[in-house]
Amino acid sequence: MSLPQRTACAEPAPILQRGQHEVFCGLTSIIWLHRKVQDAFFLVVGSRTCAHLLQSAAGVMIFSEPRFATAIMEERDLAGMADMHDELDAVVARLLERRPDIRMLVLVGSCPSEVIKLDLSKAAARLNAAHAPRHRVIAYSGSGIETTFTQGEDNFLAALIADKASSRSSGAAAKLVVLGCLADVVEDQFSRLFAELGLSGVVFLPGRDAINGLTVGPETRFILAQPYLGAAATALEARGARRIDAIFPLGAEGTSAWLRAICTAFGVDMTLFDTVITQPRRRAAEAMAHYRPWLEGRSVFFFPDSQMEPSLARFLSREMGSELVEVGSPYLHREHVAAELALLPAGVTLSEGQDVDQQIDRCRAANPDLIVCGLGLANPFEAEGRVSKWSIEFSFTPIQGFEQAGDLAELFARPLMRNAILSNGTDRRGAVR
Ligand code: SF4
Repeated sequence: MSLPQRTACAEPAPILQRGQHEVFCGLTSIIWLHRKVQDAFFLVVGSRTCAHLLQSAAGVMIFSEPRFATAIMEERDLAGMADMHDELDAVVARLLERRPDIRMLVLVGSCPSEVIKLDLSKAAARLNAAHAPRHRVIAYSGSGIETTFTQGEDNFLAALIADKASSRSSGAAAKLVVLGCLADVVEDQFSRLFAELGLSGVVFLPGRDAINGLTVGPETRFILAQPYLGAAATALEARGARRIDAIFPLGAEGTSAWLRAICTAFGVDMTLFDTVITQPRRRAAEAMAHYRPWLEGRSVFFFPDSQMEPSLARFLSREMGSELVEVGSPYLHREHVAAELALLPAGVTLSEGQDVDQQIDRCRAANPDLIVCGLGLANPFEAEGRVSKWSIEFSFTPIQGFEQAGDLAELFARPLMRNAILSNGTDRRGAVR
C-alpha cells in the first residue's frame, strides 16, 4: 500500500470571490452538534429570523424536544429599554429549572446580539459563577456576520477547548485528540480500528459527553477529522497539542491515508497497519465500485458550502473517476487543505468565497453533469433541466471512514440515477437551453 501521489495542484491559485452569498450562517451547525453532545443545550441569543432558520434546518426534529432553542431579542431589548443581561439571566434560570438534565449550556451569538455588542463571553462567565458546578456555561458566535455554516462548529470547539473548566481537568493527558464532529457510528468504527492498531488514550472532540474535561500534555497529538476547524486547531495548539497533517477520512484512499498518518506519528508497525485496514478497505472499494459506473467521466461543479468541497472533490476525482469543473469553498485554510489541493487534477478551477451570480454564469456555461449546491440553488437548476445534489447532506450524513465510503459515493450517484429513471434513460442535459 502506498501513500497517495500528489499531482498537479501543488500551488493552486483560486478565484477569490466577494459578492452575494448563498450560504448558511454558523447557527446551522447546532443541528448536528446537539445530536452529538448529549449533555449540552444550545441557546441562541437572537431574533425570530434565527429561530425560523433553526426550525427550517432542523425539520421534524423540532417536534422531539431537541436540546436547542432561541432566546428571542425583542424591540425593547434592541432599543436598550431592558437590560439584556438581566433578561438573559432570567431566561437561563427558567430553562435550567425546567431542564435540570442540561449539564453544559452553550450560549450562541447571532447577528442581532453581535450588532448590539452583547458580550456573551462575559454573560457565560457570570452564569458559570451562578450555576457551577451543576451546569457549565460557555459561549461562541454562530452569526452570519462572522461565520459560514460549518464554522459554527469550529467556534464551538474553540470555545470548548479554551474553557477554563475543561483545562483544569486533572485526568491523564490524551495521546490523540480526534478533532471534529463525527457521527456516533463513525466514532465507534474508528475506536475499534484504533484498538486493533494498539492505540490508546484517544479522545474524540466533541464527544457524546462534553462535560468530561480534556487534558492536554506535552505529548498530545491531534488530527482533524473535518477540514473547517482553523480556530479549534489554533486553540488546541495554544494548549500545547501538535497537529498530525493528513488528508481527510473520506473514501478508501482518504481514510487509509488519515489512519496511516496517525500510525506513523505513533510509530505503529506498518505490517500491523496493513493487516488491520485490509478488510475494511476492501469492503469500501467493493461498496464504491457499485456506484462508479454512474460517476465515472461525469463532470461535477461544486458551489461553496461547508469547506469540505476540496476533500469531496478529491474523492470523486481519484476514486470515482469524475471530472471536476469548479471546486468552490467558502474558505480555504491553506495549511489544513494543502495535501487535498495537491491531489486535485490539473486544470480544475478552485474558487474561494462567492459572487453567486458570476458563479451561476460559470456553471451554466460549463453545463456540468452534476451540480453540488445549496437548497436555494438546487431546484432552480433542476427546473433548467440540470441535475443537482444538495450539499447540506454531506454535513448531516455519516460519510467518514471505510464503512461509509459506499454511502458517500451513493450520495453523489443518487441524483444521476434518479434522473435516468425519470427521463427514461435520456440525458436531461440535452433539454438545457
Ligand atoms: S445569525 Fe444572522 S444570518 Fe443567522 S439566522 Fe440569525 S440573523 Fe440570520
